[in-house]
Amino acid sequence: MLGGGPSGAAVAIGLRRMDYEVTLIGEPRPFDAVEGVSDRVVEGMRHAGFEQALATLAAPSARSVTWNGSTSAANTERLVVRERFDRGLLADMRGSGVQVIEGRVTSVVDEAQASEGKGFRISVSDTDGSEHWIHAGFLVEARGRAAPAAGVPRVRGAQSVSLLQHWQGEADIPCSAVQSFADGWAWMAKREDGRRYLQLTLDVASSRLPPKQHLAHWCHERLSGLEQAQPFMEGAEPVGEVYARTSTPVLCEHSAGDNWLRVGDAAMAVDPLSGNGIFQALSSALQAPAVINTLIRHPERAALAKAFHETRIEQLFYRFARIGRDFYDQESQWSEHPFWSARRAWPDSQPLHLEVTPDRVSTGVRPVVDNGLITEARVVITPDQPLGIWHLNSLALAPLLDEVRAKSDINPTRVLIERLGEPKGVALSRWMVQQGWI
Ligand code: FAD
Repeated sequence: MLGGGPSGAAVAIGLRRMDYEVTLIGEPRPFDAVEGVSDRVVEGMRHAGFEQALATLAAPSARSVTWNGSTSAANTERLVVRERFDRGLLADMRGSGVQVIEGRVTSVVDEAQASEGKGFRISVSDTDGSEHWIHAGFLVEARGRAAPAAGVPRVRGAQSVSLLQHWQGEADIPCSAVQSFADGWAWMAKREDGRRYLQLTLDVASSRLPPKQHLAHWCHERLSGLEQAQPFMEGAEPVGEVYARTSTPVLCEHSAGDNWLRVGDAAMAVDPLSGNGIFQALSSALQAPAVINTLIRHPERAALAKAFHETRIEQLFYRFARIGRDFYDQESQWSEHPFWSARRAWPDSQPLHLEVTPDRVSTGVRPVVDNGLITEARVVITPDQPLGIWHLNSLALAPLLDEVRAKSDINPTRVLIERLGEPKGVALSRWMVQQGWI
């Protein structure tokens, strides 16, 4: 495993639960960053086996959003100090039996391409500067946006950069805020100890950024013009250099091979506006152990397992891209400005949720996860769930829907009661009507 962020940690712990020997090489994030997550993400992290990492999370704090000229302050989010959180991930992995090597991966040689064998040779630079090689039979690339992608075909959204300026002030109540402006948006967060994070996300092509030595002053000026930034700047001073992070949405068209997998941001990275980065990283990683297990134990199913992983990654990417697009579209004050016009029309005009009506619902065979392996099963396919829905409360749905349709002269509730008994049949019939299936 390369990279010990949330996606690498989720896969490593998942593989340990399957009794695989796992070695993870990761170097800590080279800069101090804070991110925000919702309770739903916390649930996902608990499920992934993160305990020590979760213990580093701050309590929920107030979050205000100023968008399209109006401010709402109904939300909360939990601030994640990534340096502490990522240390917690390393501890969680060690606790589950992962061999963790803290160091930097400097090169990866695919032995098949070099006609040397079947695995990978990985060069690691340890924290003391010494270099050594490690051999891996299977490789998981989870180095986030830093994962090398030369020669990998990629889909990209409008090029974005996020400039992060640290400020330090007096200890205060933690909170965060978002504000849109003519050529981008800002996210601000304040930690209890007075450390503040002021981040501007801008369009690379149209923002005419100054040379590096003027960046701090430039950010300070831009932030001074934002009403929501004032409570984060008052009584505080900028500290250190401005840190630039690329935040362009990117999807790798190939994220699975016979003996390798890309997960998390290394496979697809979404716009930070959605605030869903950690969630999508986990979503792409949680099923990865089953894919890897299948590739290793059932190479005859390799095509199925790879297609399952790549289709899921692609679906997740477009779902989050459309969520971002709809949020950008809600800002109409500067809709013709290059920053907004590029983002409110990308990736396409397909609605986030497609209408589900019985004529658009079918059943078919698709890959599913069963007992830690990718296999094929008959599932219900809807416009909103093209990968299919297999089970609901342990009930296989496709055969039941097929039966309801085959007996079209009988009331669907009757058919389901005959198959499942009174309360279950009635409940499922109601549920199918609500979903738009019958
Ligand atoms: P990462 O978390 O990036 O982990 C990769 C790991 O690999 C890191 O520890 C890195 O140091 C290590 N690594 C890299 N190269 C090497 C190497 N050569 N050798 C060894 N180790 C290496 N998400 C949210 O949920 N909420 C937010 O508020 C939020 N804000 C964001 C703001 C910005 C500006 C950006 C760019 C992203 C934001 N995200 C946010 C997204 C979030 O950071 C990522 O989606 C998430 O961390 C991806 O997890 P990952 O495990 O795939 O990669």
